[in-house]
Amino acid sequence: MDKTSAIGDMPDKEFREYGYRIVDKIADYFKEMENLPVLSQNEPNDLKSKLPPSAPDQGEEFAEVLKDMDDLIIPALSHWNHPNFHGLFSTSTSSVGVFGEMFIAAFDQKAMLWRTSPASTELEEVTLNWLRELMGLPEQFSGLIYDTASVSTMHAIAAARERKGLRIREDGMSGRDDLPLLRVYGSDQTHSSIEKSLITLGLGQRSMCAVKTNDRYSIDVDELRASIERDISNGFEPLCVVATIGTTSTASSDDLQAIAEICEANDIWLHVDMAYAGSAMILPELQHFMDGIESADSVVTNPHKWLFTPFDLSVLYMKDMEILRKAFSLVPEYLKVAEDVTNQMDYGIQLGRRFRSLKLWFVIRYFGADGLRSRIREHIRLAKLFASWVEESERFQLSADVDFALVCFRAVPERVEDLNSFNETLMNEINREGGAYLSHTKLDDQIVLRLSVGSIRAEERHLIKTWKLLNAKLEELCDK
Ligand SMILES: *Cc1c(COP(=O)(O)O)cnc(C)c1O
Repeated sequence: MDKTSAIGDMPDKEFREYGYRIVDKIADYFKEMENLPVLSQNEPNDLKSKLPPSAPDQGEEFAEVLKDMDDLIIPALSHWNHPNFHGLFSTSTSSVGVFGEMFIAAFDQKAMLWRTSPASTELEEVTLNWLRELMGLPEQFSGLIYDTASVSTMHAIAAARERKGLRIREDGMSGRDDLPLLRVYGSDQTHSSIEKSLITLGLGQRSMCAVKTNDRYSIDVDELRASIERDISNGFEPLCVVATIGTTSTASSDDLQAIAEICEANDIWLHVDMAYAGSAMILPELQHFMDGIESADSVVTNPHKWLFTPFDLSVLYMKDMEILRKAFSLVPEYLKVAEDVTNQMDYGIQLGRRFRSLKLWFVIRYFGADGLRSRIREHIRLAKLFASWVEESERFQLSADVDFALVCFRAVPERVEDLNSFNETLMNEINREGGAYLSHTKLDDQIVLRLSVGSIRAEERHLIKTWKLLNAKLEELCDK
């Protein structure tokens, strides 16, 4: 085919041929991924240096492109789906989630108005209601999908600001001397995305108050109360408290009930960040972490983290969506409609929205509530099993409680003086060799290793493998 003068899309026959091959390739990838190094073994610029600096003038055979996928792209991937990807939070897509993305790309919806995508607008509402019920969130909450928790949280804080009635939507914050310093509270374990929201919203980092935590890495509630009182007496305006269920460092949780009481007494917006642990709330035995949730104004959870849904899909649940609409709705003439419907463009900064609910709907329908619960339960069992090995070992020590599927621990071999640099070396060596990926955090000046279990492909043997790698590497380093 002469592609230079051709118009139109890839021919139907070619699309089908490659389509079947690509599904086979993805299936092979899932099946054989285990044999690949978890982290890419590339050095910086390895990929860039192998690609031409300019786009091709002539279209290429798609087979050529696929070949480069194998030769160039896959080696540059760090395999988040790998069962031994334990760093950060282990997240993965299910196969059925991939099907979702295929249709989402094919349908190419931009759900700005109901009219531009009734399917996306309505399926999102229904699916998020299912998820709300599964998580045991009260009925007053309704949800909206954004790309990431960072963006969900930014919208929640914007809504909190709108509720204060400070005319910031209309007049902004700059050039005004009638505005008090607005304060947003979290703990010293709160996710960095909160502070980024404050930067974005023009509140500034000065607005952030990071309250110290107790020995379980939960916010010190007395200290929170005292900070708020101090701020009020200084003429500051408390705006929002961010409570976390499942912090990023250790997956610790704040005492929601106690925080809710403080927020109610002071008319402060309560935002609950459970980007990671929200998925685990589908387990009845973990619902107690949400005691007090009925007082929250907004809640964020990321099905793309631990609910087998491909990135990206974050859900913001709000008690009063109307505030969000008041904060963001701006309708130009060409988008005015007569229908009395939900137009999702009214609830945030973006106009077009991806049809993300489709993949979550696939996942929930395919696995069912029971299937999702048993998978999450298994991950928690595996994490606790790993923690029991750590506890039984003389060479390792547990650094935090294991409430979900994250284990924080460190190596404590005898006769090693600088345990921090020893643990760093241990982690870096394992990560470099590619058998597993662990990440770290710092707790009370100690470098601590983090092992997260969350891949839908994780089995007990993968944890055994990581445990063996850790022990072998520790011995090797001690022998040096
Ligand atoms: C992962 C995480 C976030 C940020 O998630 P993104 O979706 O990547 O923005 C925020 N808070 C907590 C507690 C998290 O675990």
